[in-house]
Amino acid sequence: MTTGQSMTAAGSSSIGESRLDVEQIRQDFPILGQQVNGKPLVYLDNAATAQKPRVVIDAIQEYYQTYNSNIHRGVHHLSQVATEAYEKARVKAQRLLNASESREIIFVRSTTEAINLVAQTFGRERLQAGDEVVVSAMEHHSNIVPWQMICQEKDARLRVIPINDKGELLLEEYERLLSERTRVVAVTHISNALGTINPIEQMIEMAHQYDAAVLIDGAQGAPHLPLDVQALDCEFYAFSGHKFYGPTGVGVLYGKGDLLDSLPPYQGGGEMILSVSFEETTYNVVPHRFEAGTPNIVGAIALGKAIDYVIHIGLERIAYHEDELFRYATQQLSGLPDLTIIGTADSKASIISFVMDDIHAHDVGTILDQEGVAVRTGHHCAQPVMDRFEVPATSRASFAFYNTKEEVDVLVEGIGKVIEVFK
Ligand code: PLP
Repeated sequence: MTTGQSMTAAGSSSIGESRLDVEQIRQDFPILGQQVNGKPLVYLDNAATAQKPRVVIDAIQEYYQTYNSNIHRGVHHLSQVATEAYEKARVKAQRLLNASESREIIFVRSTTEAINLVAQTFGRERLQAGDEVVVSAMEHHSNIVPWQMICQEKDARLRVIPINDKGELLLEEYERLLSERTRVVAVTHISNALGTINPIEQMIEMAHQYDAAVLIDGAQGAPHLPLDVQALDCEFYAFSGHKFYGPTGVGVLYGKGDLLDSLPPYQGGGEMILSVSFEETTYNVVPHRFEAGTPNIVGAIALGKAIDYVIHIGLERIAYHEDELFRYATQQLSGLPDLTIIGTADSKASIISFVMDDIHAHDVGTILDQEGVAVRTGHHCAQPVMDRFEVPATSRASFAFYNTKEEVDVLVEGIGKVIEVFK
């Protein structure tokens, strides 16, 4: 399966035959074994942040216990070990995304910082008055506000691709929005509020017909779909370490090498320079130009371990398992009275948002929590989506490869309790 296709495409029999041993996998995640409110934890808030396998937790401890040191500048042993581990992590991220060079991988704080970096470098340099940036109506705030800010500064215009009642982008409207004025298309791979998988290959191709650069917000895409940025041909792809079974405080921005070379720095400081005097500073090469100051060294290293772990399990198998789970959950939840799923796109992954008649999402979340079930409630940092569907908030169950059908059953029973309490 390639990116952007329906998850159904993952269901080839060869993948299905080598199913994940989920019970075995769960042993790798110490947090999953605990009880919450006297009930076994059912963690269905993976779109907010995923849990960490022991290899990631161990890598953090090992770093601080055995080779904690600042990188790139030291000749001493520990610094060299840390530098090597950090740069190895970059190569792991490169392989995950199938980027052609490791310098195309920039370590950032998160998806949010990655998008701000692109808006403040590419956007600041390339946008002029009257230019347009196209985003979609299903973006997370972090793929709206940075563009809004730079558009305001440059007197450029933010255009929005609308969505239909199923939560799918209207591609004919997208086509209509594109023009010679379009400089950037910034769109999410998978919607965190609806679960929609967007047809990003097609959208990138369409944007390129107008020479617009494309940024894909992969915060929800990278953990669930196999990726190939060369095949996609996007200019930028961003994701967060913590949603990819790695630690918080680290993320990845992929950018095409030549394009990154041509961009000005994002932040000034150590590491991003070649030489500094009061008269003139010359900037370092990519990727260091974009990594000012001491980076999250241990974060990158531990993310590298998470990438190894996910690749070892196999993103195709993960996608297959999660798709099965997602279909089962959709079927079970669809049968419940008083519950409406928000976002019913033909191509969806791992996320089910729902509302319940006359019951606020926070009440749903609170009662589910009493049953040990962790779901997210609120606007999911996607207020325009809530406005589009005219709901104040939704409850959102989001799945990872360590979740099981039995856990879906606990969720469904929990919703039964919500109905009992409120009806
Ligand atoms: N984009 C999407 C689609 C997301 O789901 C999220 C987080 O939920 C983000 C961006 C922001 O990610 P972070 O908070 O890790 O920067």
